Amino acid sequence: MSALDNLTVEINATLKDALILINKNSFGICFVVSDLRLVGVVTDGDIRRALINNKNLESCIDEAMNRNFIARHVDTPSKDVRNLFSESIRVIPLLDSDGLIVDISNIKKTHSIPLMEPSLSGKENEYVNDCLDTGWISSKGKYVQMFEQKFEELHPGMFAVTVSNGTVALQLAMLAIGIKNGDEVIVPNITFAASINTVIHCGATPVLCEVDPVTWCIDPKEIKKLINSRTKAIMPVHLYGQPAQMDEIIKLANENSLYIIEDCAEALGSMWKNKNVGTFGDASTFSFFGNKTITTGEGGMVLFKSKEIRDRAIILRDHGMSPTKRYWHEVIGFNFRLTNIQAAIGVAQLERLDEIVRKKIHIGDFYSDILRNNNIVAQVPKSHSAVKNSYWIFSFLLKKKINRDQMISKLLEHGIETRPVFFPLHKMPPYENFKRSRSLENSINISQQGLSLPSATSLSDENMKYIVYCLNKISAQ
Ligand SMILES: *Cc1c(COP(=O)(O)O)cnc(C)c1O
Repeated sequence: MSALDNLTVEINATLKDALILINKNSFGICFVVSDLRLVGVVTDGDIRRALINNKNLESCIDEAMNRNFIARHVDTPSKDVRNLFSESIRVIPLLDSDGLIVDISNIKKTHSIPLMEPSLSGKENEYVNDCLDTGWISSKGKYVQMFEQKFEELHPGMFAVTVSNGTVALQLAMLAIGIKNGDEVIVPNITFAASINTVIHCGATPVLCEVDPVTWCIDPKEIKKLINSRTKAIMPVHLYGQPAQMDEIIKLANENSLYIIEDCAEALGSMWKNKNVGTFGDASTFSFFGNKTITTGEGGMVLFKSKEIRDRAIILRDHGMSPTKRYWHEVIGFNFRLTNIQAAIGVAQLERLDEIVRKKIHIGDFYSDILRNNNIVAQVPKSHSAVKNSYWIFSFLLKKKINRDQMISKLLEHGIETRPVFFPLHKMPPYENFKRSRSLENSINISQQGLSLPSATSLSDENMKYIVYCLNKISAQ
């Protein structure tokens, strides 16, 4: 059966034929065709009005149909079609160049509104082709330096080192700083697992810390209780773009001579008191995975406050080899290098960072506004007045009466891809021994009721209204 079978009737059909079809397809609409040429659309409402106006079920469809309709050429990019969907427009006919109907796009097609999607509409192609044309496809080449240099310009006072992903970025940051067996690193209980895994890979012991109920980031009051003579570092993670409370964290680090490793994987473009996150830590790390704010496919970056530690990181990144004496290894190193091709994509992405972050903030503000006073919503993101949240992925809390996991599967049936907030680390077997905070109720609550909504830059305001309409409709069922 093709997508057309349940959605098209011939021009000589009756109102009854159309009603039978609409009843089958459950979209409340069907398209009227004449020799495969689209001539009109009729909704169940149009038929009802025709019947009230003295037509009957045997009347011809053209007595009820509407000749104004939205259709698109079949080659239209799927995201442009997706942007047309709204509460009232849920099916869109796709036409060939002769105006013949060849397919129908509908909002229920799985993943029609993705959680995230890279935006590659800048000079990515041009710069990647430059790498291919010149042969500089491996980890040497001008784009690697340009990428690092642009990152340093965005983060004054820091020295940049590109790496192959955001996970080894954390590992390299800690190894270069000298975190090792016997040391403790305080990490938030709600974060992506790479934050804690890398502490363990360095041989150190992670200590799980409760998060703040408002920012969802590591809670400074709880950090204080966990500091002891073995503590070496604090790892704030700016979750979903929301900056952690850096003033208190910096104060605690200074008072106790601790390093700060900022995990900024989700927060490129976020600010704390008018300074970009990533400029506060002794080291800070970024990820350029496909779903992050900017992407290089896979990729990462570490920023260091100390030039000396940066130099050590460069040696560790390249097999521990002496920079002046080839094949002379001073330490046991790694291959954590980024390729010139990846960096080329990164340079093109950075050229559009302002535009991307501006769109993300629009998405975050728009969702917040339409969800704030909703009776199924317990909390939308709230920021300290001096904070800029770059809203990597818009995430909020549903009230306890709503079953979050059921909501996720129902939304998917409506073509909306969403995601639960991370599980609290202490609940998962590899990490349960690292629990140290007495109560982890905030993490448990955020994890149970937290929901992340589609946040790609391709998302339209209509899409967001449709998503909130579905949230309401499903919760009322
Ligand atoms: C994505 C992410 C990472 C890891 O980055 P990869 O590039 O996927 O290795 C680390 N920490 C956090 C908080 C992340 O979201």
